[in-house]
Amino acid sequence: MKTELVIDLEAEKQEILKRYRALLRASKSTLQKGDKKEIRKAFDMALESHKDMRRKSGEPYIYHPIAVAQIAAEEIGLGTTSIVCALLHDVVEDTDITLEDIEREFGKKTAKIIDGLTKISGVFDTNSSLQAENFRKMLLTLADDVRVILIKLADRLHNMRTMDFMPRHKQLKIASETIYLYAPLAHRLGLYAIKSELEDLSMKYLDPDTYKFIAKKLNEKKAERALFIKKFVEPIDEIVHEQGLVADVYGRPKSIHSIWNKMKKKNIPFEEVYDLFAIRIILDSAPENEKADCWKAYSIVTDLYRPNPDRLRDWVSSPKGNGYESLHTTVMGPRGQWVEVQIRTQRMNEIAEKGFAAHWKYKESSNDNGLDQWIQKVREMLSNPEANALDFLDDFKMNLFSDEIFIFTPKGALIQLPLGATALDFAFEIHTDVGATCIGAKVNHKLVPISYKLQNGDQVEIITSSKQTPKEDWLNVVVTAKAKSKIKSSLKEEKRKIAENGKEILERKLKSLKITYNTDNIQKLSYFFKLPSTQELFVNVALGKIELKDIREYLTSEKEVENRGPERPENLTVDMVKSKMKGSENDILLIGEDLQKIDYNLAACCNPIPGDDVFGFVTVSEGIKIHRTNCPNAAQLMSNYGYRIVKAKWNKQQELTFLTGLRIVGIDDVGLINNITRVISTDFKVNMRSITVDTNEGIFDGSIMIFVNDTEHLENLIKNLLKVRGVTGVTRFDA
Ligand code: MN
Repeated sequence: MKTELVIDLEAEKQEILKRYRALLRASKSTLQKGDKKEIRKAFDMALESHKDMRRKSGEPYIYHPIAVAQIAAEEIGLGTTSIVCALLHDVVEDTDITLEDIEREFGKKTAKIIDGLTKISGVFDTNSSLQAENFRKMLLTLADDVRVILIKLADRLHNMRTMDFMPRHKQLKIASETIYLYAPLAHRLGLYAIKSELEDLSMKYLDPDTYKFIAKKLNEKKAERALFIKKFVEPIDEIVHEQGLVADVYGRPKSIHSIWNKMKKKNIPFEEVYDLFAIRIILDSAPENEKADCWKAYSIVTDLYRPNPDRLRDWVSSPKGNGYESLHTTVMGPRGQWVEVQIRTQRMNEIAEKGFAAHWKYKESSNDNGLDQWIQKVREMLSNPEANALDFLDDFKMNLFSDEIFIFTPKGALIQLPLGATALDFAFEIHTDVGATCIGAKVNHKLVPISYKLQNGDQVEIITSSKQTPKEDWLNVVVTAKAKSKIKSSLKEEKRKIAENGKEILERKLKSLKITYNTDNIQKLSYFFKLPSTQELFVNVALGKIELKDIREYLTSEKEVENRGPERPENLTVDMVKSKMKGSENDILLIGEDLQKIDYNLAACCNPIPGDDVFGFVTVSEGIKIHRTNCPNAAQLMSNYGYRIVKAKWNKQQELTFLTGLRIVGIDDVGLINNITRVISTDFKVNMRSITVDTNEGIFDGSIMIFVNDTEHLENLIKNLLKVRGVTGVTRFDA
């Protein structure tokens, strides 16, 4: 049935004004003289230029820029220039307004930021290397003016919040990009609240079942949890105030995404995740008392509850690279339950929630400049023109996620490195030449190899030799993007020299065989030896891997070569794969926009079964692979290779079975295994492929590989297994 949308223009106009006034209220704290007029001017321009546009939901388009501006002001703490830019962020892209118009009305700075926003708006399309190149551009604008990225994050957050009206395949793509790039970026910029929300929203679309499951579980125990928190907090609150501290003490739930991560990482059911919330103590301290007050509060908490000595984190003395400052400890609660307590001041809390912008505001009063250092590093990475954009993206992403360690030079200077960094990373951090000639290191005066993994607080002295040069396997030794890119460009230079040499040798060889040395022949030779480039051909010749007799072989088969070209995976399209193969009538999967029956394979990483939410991925050599949308590899595939994703849907049931795994835990009881296998084989007539069981002091932990028809079949089986006496948990696992 089609429902007609009735639009009440007058009511809409009122609503637009209401939202605009809410924006002004949100930006009040940063407004200076004349700012209100600027914002009004931007609002009027945006309103006029978007006036005939509507969002997918049917709402007036202007709701979107107003909301983005509100997020920028309220949740990131940005000022007037950013609010103006957020209001106008889509006008150059989508309307007749030009950058020149913006510059004339609002000045150079505003025009430049909007230019940056417009440039990155087409990011993440068609093919992966283009996307990586665009991401690089986006970071270049970050090095230029970080506000571009912050407004882009606000834009993305609002789009994620309002994605219900998008078609499913767009939701999947946008959610994948978000989890792959935007959430890590928000994390690195210290925007914890936005990062958590982006992660939760991505999960809501990528893995809706798990998301709903955890949300429901959280909701069920809400009242009980609130009571626990109240009892836990009361004595802290009392003593904190007795001792003359001004503090706000409260409990704060953790995000669904972080709970799910913990379940996966530790392989435990929801019930066993102990830290569903954290306790926060936010102190109102004078600048000179901040550190002392935090430790005073720590002392109060640990007098009341016993702390876990392994879980003390002091980011007050050494803040994280993104500016985060806080004191974390985990203590034993009254019911024998571990509880995380975070202690920080109001200033630290504002930085923790709003990240960069708040950091900026307090900059004068803080001597830490980790974020400036980071932006400086991004600049350095980008300035390497040889770096391949895709490699860059991978290296960069690694650095986005990692935690930092602090290392001392022999003279006592402090160097920040990502967790997992080696002595060689440290050497490259000191200087490219030190890295390139590094043969070992002394860590705390003890000799160690270059691959030694550094620990927080190590003091490191690098040992070099003029004879040393970077080696291929060094790439496996280092983790920092800086070291990686320096090693790669050095290896490339080395290779170029070898190729130069090989080229001369090849020229002589061809001459002796009376073949003309020209581009055409060299190209044919590379095809013949299945090499990706003529440079590789030269290198192989120089290394003696291609000899005179091999070239003779080429001569005899030259005719055959005529029509051969190298495989070009990046040109692969669904149609090509389709034309190569035809599915049989019995196929149970329909693939592509028109949902045809074509051949496919089921991915081994996630073992999809009928009923699962799935998509197809066009591979180079194995046709179309079917993955679950919540497959651990899905986000990476969808965001990097969007153009190779095809829609896939299960067809009506065939009598086929699919392999999947179940993990069953419980209390070991006489006959438990018998009862489980009875349910599986007799009641459900399901075939088992393997069963492995661990029993340890009365705890039963089994993994069973079984063949089922579809998700419904599987869910019924799980339900019945849970009824077996002694069984406490049954979960599906991937291969
Ligand atoms: Mn937008």
